[in-house]
Amino acid sequence: MAKRDYYEILGVQREASEAEIKKAYRRLAMKYHPDRNPDDEEALSRFREAKEAFEVLSDSQKRAAYDRFGHAGVDATAGGPGAGGGGFGGADFADIFDDMFGDIFGGGRRRSARGADLRYRMDITLEEAVQGTETEIQVPTQEACERCNGSGAKPGSKPRTCSTCGGMGQVRMQQGFFSIQQTCPTCRGTGQMIDDPCDACHGRGTVQREKSLSVKIPAGVDTGDRIRLSGEGEVGERGAPAGDLYVEVRVKPHPIFERDGKNLICDVPLDIATAALGGEIDVPTLDGRVKLKIPAGTQSERVFRLRGKGVRPVRGGSPGDVLCRVRIETPVHLTPRQKELLEEFRATLEEDDEARHSPRQGSWLDGVRKFFEDMRL
Ligand SMILES: [Zn+2]
Ligand SMILES: [Zn+2]
Repeated sequence: MAKRDYYEILGVQREASEAEIKKAYRRLAMKYHPDRNPDDEEALSRFREAKEAFEVLSDSQKRAAYDRFGHAGVDATAGGPGAGGGGFGGADFADIFDDMFGDIFGGGRRRSARGADLRYRMDITLEEAVQGTETEIQVPTQEACERCNGSGAKPGSKPRTCSTCGGMGQVRMQQGFFSIQQTCPTCRGTGQMIDDPCDACHGRGTVQREKSLSVKIPAGVDTGDRIRLSGEGEVGERGAPAGDLYVEVRVKPHPIFERDGKNLICDVPLDIATAALGGEIDVPTLDGRVKLKIPAGTQSERVFRLRGKGVRPVRGGSPGDVLCRVRIETPVHLTPRQKELLEEFRATLEEDDEARHSPRQGSWLDGVRKFFEDMRL
């Protein structure tokens, strides 16, 4: 069964501060604490889940590993025989689950023969997201130890059945009110003991390697999209199938375009003369510059749509648009001649009916008048 996202469990944002995480955990721990919810399995599992999420997210190192690789970055569940130190982070993360599950809520470790799924965060540029790209990534992974063929025992020797659990990997324990199935503390759930561990993997049966994978990013992907590389996750136990690798895409911010689904939004500065008189300006698209006609009397914030110049969605459908939002710029560093011209221009406005040339001014002045009238009441 897939584990829930730690941030989701605590109900916090990915950017949450340490204090926010602590606060969220406290709230959940109070609510679901077994003392307050006797004989409530649902509450107990909620409590455990929150505790696990907190253990990881409150530790900056573990949190960083989790952010990058997901559960695989911090899990110790999928190692080989004699494991304890499986998962991505290697030994650093090996013990946290023992710490967590060594208490009365022990036995929470779910063992599956299939290898763990891995998650890999990939940051790509907007151009790469729109056009698609192919890239090599280095993925640390647990692979079956070659020397002992994954058994964990020194070549020539064999693991023996654990005498504590009789090879079941689980024992029943009575703890207070609870009678619970717990991972066997002697063999740590593998059901086997290794007297003579393999030198290469120290009895774990797996070794950590870096593998290089080629990943094809299809055109049109967006932040949050995942590409599944089937069978590229961690190796399974004793010949069981490997897990999958999920490459999770994150599109980096772009200096010009802001992405909104299949549309691309960009701000274009526009000088007052062109805005007033009309004209033609160059605007960017991902395929290069295109000419955009500016009608006379264009106001700031007006949006022009370039149809079909946006992103073609990865799941098919028509491409989006580029939305150019013009921002009218007030000229600065005027020469004496330019000032003179503007002075002259202003004078002509004052002679004329000023409001006729300022479409927003009339309603703005009305608004101000009404505001002061309302205030008097
Ligand atoms: Zn080995
Ligand atoms: Zn055992």
